Amino acid sequence: MKQQTTALHSGYIKDSQGTMAVPLYQTTAYAFKDAEHAANLFALKELGNIYTRLMNPTTDVFEKRFAEVEGGEAAIAAASGMSSIFFAITNCAEVGDNIICASQLYGGTLTQTQHTLKRFGIETRYFDVHKPEEIDALVDDKTKCIFFESLTNPSVDVADISAITNIAKKHNIISIVDNTVATPILCQPFEYGADVTVHSASKYTTGQGLAIGGILVERKGLLEVLKGNPRYPQFNKPDESYHGLVYVDVPLPVFTLRIRLSLLRDVGAVLSPLTHGYLFKV
Ligand SMILES: *Cc1c(COP(=O)(O)O)cnc(C)c1O
Repeated sequence: MKQQTTALHSGYIKDSQGTMAVPLYQTTAYAFKDAEHAANLFALKELGNIYTRLMNPTTDVFEKRFAEVEGGEAAIAAASGMSSIFFAITNCAEVGDNIICASQLYGGTLTQTQHTLKRFGIETRYFDVHKPEEIDALVDDKTKCIFFESLTNPSVDVADISAITNIAKKHNIISIVDNTVATPILCQPFEYGADVTVHSASKYTTGQGLAIGGILVERKGLLEVLKGNPRYPQFNKPDESYHGLVYVDVPLPVFTLRIRLSLLRDVGAVLSPLTHGYLFKV
């Protein structure tokens, strides 16, 4: 399918009414068939809707469609680009860890890394996006991700994505690319070795300046980087907050799964289903 067709149609299986446009499922909760059904959903024995803070059928179309347009495996929407970036970084790093960021960054990302994440005990080390060779000296055992923009906002510097992701791969570190300005139509970071992409959907994705939204995509096969990797105990050890779930053992795309089950659950910066209409111009 051509990218334009994917952007218009994929991810939506027509409901019983056969509507061409994606219905807006404006609901907070979902009816469980019985208590066992509810228990199975929470235990991931069965997949289905639990509560709109975690998932929603309208938002699900946006996630599936965007993942396909970006050439990734799975996506998770959030309330804004800034919350997607927060989820991407805090899914990798926690107190005592550090991350490496290009210094040419969107203003909100600069303040989030320089000030807010610092208050959470996550240190950010910056490199010049035109000098990927600076990265090696910044890496240590506590480095959890390398973050940069494919086309920087506002300076429109062009990142050499392969040069940076090759260094990330050498150290077994996740690379995260903010692909907002380029969009998947002009640039596909997964083709150049990126592990995760994030977007502000508020810009070219909506294209009309009518809605704030964010989306994060994980590439196919990211599990290989996470499984058994001492940098990422949170994916390899039981999650006490989720019945001792070990994420790398779940046969689902685990980076987005952990954001959904733990960060979106607890932080709650969820995309409103109503926003979908603006994001996809329905
Ligand atoms: C706008 C923007 C963001 C923040 O997105 P919001 O949806 O406004 O929260 C992040 N990164 C880049 C590159 C942006 O242009």
